[in-house]
Amino acid sequence: MTTLVLNCYHFEFKHILSGLSIAKKPELRCPREELMRIKFWGTRGSIAVPGRDTILYGGNTTCLEITLESGRVIIIDAGTGIRPLGDKLASESETLDVHLLITHIHWDHVLGFPYFGPLYKSSTHLTIDGYHTCMNGLKSTFDNKMGDGFFPVKFADLKAKITPLEKLRHGFLEVDGTVISAAPLHHPQGGFAYRFKEGSKTFVFMTDNELREDGWKGRSPKDYVKFCKGADLLVHDSQYTPAEIEDRRDWGHSDYGAAFSLAEKANVRRLILTHHDPARTDLQVTELVAECKALARAKESGIVIEAAMEMSEVEL
Ligand SMILES: [Zn+2]
Ligand SMILES: [Zn+2]
Repeated sequence: MTTLVLNCYHFEFKHILSGLSIAKKPELRCPREELMRIKFWGTRGSIAVPGRDTILYGGNTTCLEITLESGRVIIIDAGTGIRPLGDKLASESETLDVHLLITHIHWDHVLGFPYFGPLYKSSTHLTIDGYHTCMNGLKSTFDNKMGDGFFPVKFADLKAKITPLEKLRHGFLEVDGTVISAAPLHHPQGGFAYRFKEGSKTFVFMTDNELREDGWKGRSPKDYVKFCKGADLLVHDSQYTPAEIEDRRDWGHSDYGAAFSLAEKANVRRLILTHHDPARTDLQVTELVAECKALARAKESGIVIEAAMEMSEVEL
């Protein structure tokens, strides 16, 4: 019986995989310092959804690991994906000196923070920057005065050295020659998108963003086209399909049609759709990407389109 179930599942998994053009799985190799590497540790929106329906694209919420040419690691967001990332980083080195950039403090982007293992080691130095509420949001995952008993450890008792920065909301942040700038998100309670410029390479990360023609000041598709202009890679929120979006207006997310339109107008080379809806199965995410690719073909666009996949890595 067990064998039968496993075989059926294996078949279904292979079926989902077939016909996919997906981001590369990590492979063993010597570090090549000339590359910027972007690894997805969490791709899910709203809430973590482990289970057999989310094995391919992943069930963890937003977390990315960016490795600069210098080898320095910058983490974006502390969704549940930051827990396994912390374990990986701790296994690689006794000491850790990394940046953490927070897009905004909705639960799915900070809830993994208390489970980031390096926080409990005095050999860790964590530099934190991002949206202006980020430090309060991260502290609240430990100390929440509204209740009693959310988490056993106090923020003040963490052993890691934590340095809050406020560079991004006042301009830009430069790390080892890479310039990171921010743009405001069209999202309830606000947030930041990030643009990384390292040499000739540009990577834009923009999630929890509702693209709409009647967007708030500084947050119209036109503004975002400017911010994404010529990017080698744009990772954008695509929680919904065009058929779903009208019932979900003002929730702060986009459909794949709007994400594609932004990528096309901004002359982006590669678009990765992320913040998958928690109810979307692997098969349905695959279908969503296929629909987006069909849209691109109909418009004779050469943009490479994929879905963000947990544990996949992109090199720029
Ligand atoms: Zn989110
Ligand atoms: Zn959000």
